[in-house]
Amino acid sequence: MLSSKKKYIVNGNSGIKAQIQFADQKQEFNKRPTKLGRRSLSRSISQSSTDSYSSAASYTDSSDDETSPRDKQQKNSKGSSDFCVKNIKQAEFGRREIEIAEQEMPALMALRKRAQGEKPLAGAKIVGCTHITAQTAVLMETLGALGAQCRWAACNIYSTLNEVAAALAESGFPVFAWKGESEDDFWWCIDRCVNVEGWQPNMILDDGGDLTHWIYKKYPNMFKKIKGIVEESVTGVHRLYQLSKAGKLCVPAMNVNDSVTKQKFDNLYCCRESILDGLKRTTDMMFGGKQVVVCGYGEVGKGCCAALKAMGSIVYVTEIDPICALQACMDGFRLVKLNEVIRQVDIVITCTGNKNVVTREHLDRMKNSCIVCNMGHSNTEIDVASLRTPELTWERVRSQVDHVIWPDGKRIVLLAEGRLLNLSCSTVPTFVLSITATTQALALIELYNAPEGRYKQDVYLLPKKMDEYVASLHLPTFDAHLTELTDEQAKYLGLNKNGPFKPNYYRY
Ligand code: NAD
Repeated sequence: MLSSKKKYIVNGNSGIKAQIQFADQKQEFNKRPTKLGRRSLSRSISQSSTDSYSSAASYTDSSDDETSPRDKQQKNSKGSSDFCVKNIKQAEFGRREIEIAEQEMPALMALRKRAQGEKPLAGAKIVGCTHITAQTAVLMETLGALGAQCRWAACNIYSTLNEVAAALAESGFPVFAWKGESEDDFWWCIDRCVNVEGWQPNMILDDGGDLTHWIYKKYPNMFKKIKGIVEESVTGVHRLYQLSKAGKLCVPAMNVNDSVTKQKFDNLYCCRESILDGLKRTTDMMFGGKQVVVCGYGEVGKGCCAALKAMGSIVYVTEIDPICALQACMDGFRLVKLNEVIRQVDIVITCTGNKNVVTREHLDRMKNSCIVCNMGHSNTEIDVASLRTPELTWERVRSQVDHVIWPDGKRIVLLAEGRLLNLSCSTVPTFVLSITATTQALALIELYNAPEGRYKQDVYLLPKKMDEYVASLHLPTFDAHLTELTDEQAKYLGLNKNGPFKPNYYRY
């Protein structure tokens, strides 16, 4: 294990030399609970635990196997049965998926190489609760290579790739997850990760806050040994801030959701790609010459507008904030009120994070075949409820595609019932997940090795220098050559040559 004062020196292929300081009651599940009993186990699982996540398709058909994994006796080839997955025999398929994901996750692979000598997570016992996909597997295997022991459950009852879970179990990771868990299974899996004889976690990696909640509720004493929590989701981060505000957070927590690199990739770059993917998969439409209105010119709106403009669409923007509005003008978009263009546009996209941006009145005035969709977080942006009236007919034409038909025969095409289009109807690129996973790995390393006192019982953002490091680890993919400051330049700007290069308030 690294001593608290030891430095983990990282030399980037791109010529970057970053020097980062790292420091050094049992729940009874023997009987299946009754429905009533289940409810009493805890509060309901979080929204994110049930949101569908379409990246997670299944590659082998196990639909004929109705036996619950909890009722199966399975062993991996080394004889271990410390896991619970759908079918351990699917491991080989899962391994191929993991190998494909590795190609697009250069930073984690680089971390593995660099960790061969030093193991910054030696002694770390990480309990994780995230989507179990090929990309998560690359993260877990990286954490293992960095010296950590891991036990893992799924943060979403639908998103587990059974083959990947099998591959992880086969290579010795205690994984408790399968696609289509019941609510009771969900908590049982989490419990199997933490409630183990002779093993206690000292780090938590959570996505949605359910794991953290479970430990708080069932095993609060575990926090005596836990050095920190790394949380990835908006929901989970919100819960941590609430705990902190109430003075109940008993260990340091890292909010990786709001790190700059992750935000940029999730909001701007990912949406720039997935807006086209989501629209194409659901409607087979051609974008050239189409008139599109994008509501909101924040990060997500900017991504959507850029992609559609590049495809030859005529793009209008609506905004409430004059600064973002002016940016839209500078970028060559016509700033309008929704009312002014609603009769003529072919596509309406909301990305404001607001509510009732598209009202029934707007929907009434749209032209025949207008496509309506939302890229914002919640399904409140389009007033879908107002379309559930007797005079309108709903026709499900494809998965996630509804035609809503007016009495005069006009129809609009509503995608994903107004829920987030890209998460419902397209995939999240592995490279985007690579950014998140690298941020998580570095946050774990930082919290685990931080000297006493660096972090208190509060919620922190990833230090800027590490955010920069996440970005630098992805640069070699593009054979990108970063300029190094000269001593004279560094002095002139008042910067350390190794970063951080920007103050925290800098807006990228
Ligand atoms: P942002 O705050 O940068 O942008 C939202 C913009 O909408 C702001 O500029 C705001 O002024 C504008 N706005 C608010 N109300 C409006 C209205 N009535 N009409 C027109 N404009 C209005 O936020 P962002 O990062 O762009 O995220 C937008 C939404 O997308 C959020 O809900 C966010 O959670 C979500 N999001 C989605 C994805 C995805 O993958 N689809 C990824 C990240 C974030």
